[in-house]
Amino acid sequence: MKNALRYFLAAASLAALGSHADTIVLSADAMVDVESGKLIQNPAIIIEDDKIVSVTTQDALSDFSEATQRIELKGKTLLPGLMDMHTHLTSDPHEHGYKRLATSQNRALLKGVGYAEATLMAGVTTVRNVGAGGYTDVALRDAINDGELVGPRMFVSGPSLGITGGHCDSNLLPPEYKAKGQGVADGPWEAVAKVRENIKYGADVIKVCATGGVLSKGTKVGAQQYSFEEMKALVDEAHRRGLIVAAHAHGAEGINNAIRAGVDSIEHGSFVDKEGIKLAKKNGTYFSMDIYVTEYILGEGEAAGILEESLAKERMTGETQRENFRKAHDAGIKMVMGTDAGVYPHGDNLKQLSRMVTFGMTPIEALQAASINGATLLKKEKELGSIAEGKYADIIAVDGNPLDDISLLEDVSFVMKDGVVYKQ
Ligand SMILES: [Zn+2]
Repeated sequence: MKNALRYFLAAASLAALGSHADTIVLSADAMVDVESGKLIQNPAIIIEDDKIVSVTTQDALSDFSEATQRIELKGKTLLPGLMDMHTHLTSDPHEHGYKRLATSQNRALLKGVGYAEATLMAGVTTVRNVGAGGYTDVALRDAINDGELVGPRMFVSGPSLGITGGHCDSNLLPPEYKAKGQGVADGPWEAVAKVRENIKYGADVIKVCATGGVLSKGTKVGAQQYSFEEMKALVDEAHRRGLIVAAHAHGAEGINNAIRAGVDSIEHGSFVDKEGIKLAKKNGTYFSMDIYVTEYILGEGEAAGILEESLAKERMTGETQRENFRKAHDAGIKMVMGTDAGVYPHGDNLKQLSRMVTFGMTPIEALQAASINGATLLKKEKELGSIAEGKYADIIAVDGNPLDDISLLEDVSFVMKDGVVYKQ
């Protein structure tokens, strides 16, 4: 065990089971194998420290039964810990618009401590956090990795890159306040420099705002923002340094421009057209479409401070995005689960799965999007994304069969990350 907290949690969970062995045998009624797409009956998973060393069945288990710790989850189905490719763990979902201006980055980070824990307890063991001022996401990631805090495995972007006055700038205040988003960079060379700066301060991924957005003041949701030259320059720099690029893009021109420039994922993707679908298929670009959040924005958004202009933009975006989610999936585009949690409450991430099924996926496809596809996008498929030998022991469980009822994922009853039980 790497540190005191992890040791304490591991010891607590093992003590509850009566011993202190390093090897855990985890069994349940069934397991979703996201790689084959099949439900495996009576699985038994052998875990040593933070890794899965064997995936077998309870029938084949006699060799292990006396020498190891047992965690028996009767009536439950195991799944890999799920992966949300679009979160804002240091954003307060109840503070939008002008309300958010009163919160310092230090305060945002402190709020993020609880949000990270809520996210993990919901069954999301890995997040890609795309957009955080002040590198609050870097601090949170490092504290979780060092065992000081409880939360998901985080891959983080730091401040989102964007143009002056664009979706990722700070546009709420008049000029005398000189407010400016930390990731603002105009022109190819400034954009390249900003990529380098984000890497210097700890980014694992680059987030760029390619078009206007719903929640930013004064931007047209569909309009392209970065030019091709700017986008290509920053994507090339990120790729040279071994980082993937996530592009916030709603409008078709901006989506197509971003895909042509080589981004790894399109976030939102609301108004994708035929050309965009063709390009994404050709280039292997992932789509991360947040099709649950519209319900929160239109339901609770006004009370949370979302501006009327943003609510109006959401009314003309949400339904189209859902129709285009179906089209993108039907066309065979690679899809991940990205929720935009932080715009809506952390811990509600997996409510999106049932919407992904409503809008065209089978339950196993939605679960694959939220696991192995996320791992592949992050280029971590050898370590994460499924319950398989050699991977990190990130495992969750639900009561019953999630392939019959995907909404069971809204009530995850067991969470293990890195071989440590956090919820049982
Ligand atoms: Zn977002």
